[in-house]
Amino acid sequence: MTTTEKLNQTIRDIPDFPKPGIIFKDITPVLADPKLVSELVDWFVDKAKEDKIDVIVGVESRGFLFGMLIADRMGIPFVPVRKEGKLPHKTVKYAYELEYGNATMEIHADALKPGQRVMIHDDLLATGGTAEAAAVLVEKLGAKACNFTFLIELSFLEGRKKLNSYNESVYSIVS
Ligand code: AMP
Repeated sequence: MTTTEKLNQTIRDIPDFPKPGIIFKDITPVLADPKLVSELVDWFVDKAKEDKIDVIVGVESRGFLFGMLIADRMGIPFVPVRKEGKLPHKTVKYAYELEYGNATMEIHADALKPGQRVMIHDDLLATGGTAEAAAVLVEKLGAKACNFTFLIELSFLEGRKKLNSYNESVYSIVS
C-alpha cells in the first residue's frame, strides 16, 4: 500500500464537527500509528530537501505535530505561527478574512532571519487563508515561503489557487 492509501484509510471523518455541515478530518488515529507517522515524516522531509528548506514553520495547532517532527528529523529549526495573544515575546501580526468573520495570526519578530528558506506546514488545506497568513508573516520577516505542505487537501475549496499566487510548490499527501 502507498503512503497516500495508508493515510486515506487512517484519517477519521467526523460529520458535523465542530458545527453542522462540516466534515472534520480527525488525524488522531494517524498519531497513534508510529510506523505511519515515520513514513509521513519521510514524505515531508523529501519535499524539504528538494526545496532546500532551512526552517519549518508550523501553524497552530495541528501544524505543530508533524512540523516539529520534520524539523527534528532534518536537524533544522521549528518556528510556530499562533493565533493572536499566545506568543509571549515581541510579535509581527497579520489579520485575514475567514468564511465567517476574521482572524489574526502572529509570529515572533526575531524567529526568522532574512533570506531563510521556509516550509509552511499544517495538517489540512481548506480555503488556504490560514496558510497564506503564515506566508505573509514569513515574508514580513524577510524570509522566503518556498513551499507549503499538508497531510490533507480539501481540493474542492481551491485553497491551492490562493497559495499558487505565492508559490507553485503546494504538496499534500491526500487530496
Ligand atoms: P483554511 O484557512 O480554510 O485553509 O483552513 C485550514 C485550517 O483550518 C487548518 O489549520 C485546519 O486544521 C483547519 N481545518 C479546516 N477545515 C478542516 C476540516 N474539515 N477538518 C479538520 N481541520 C480543518
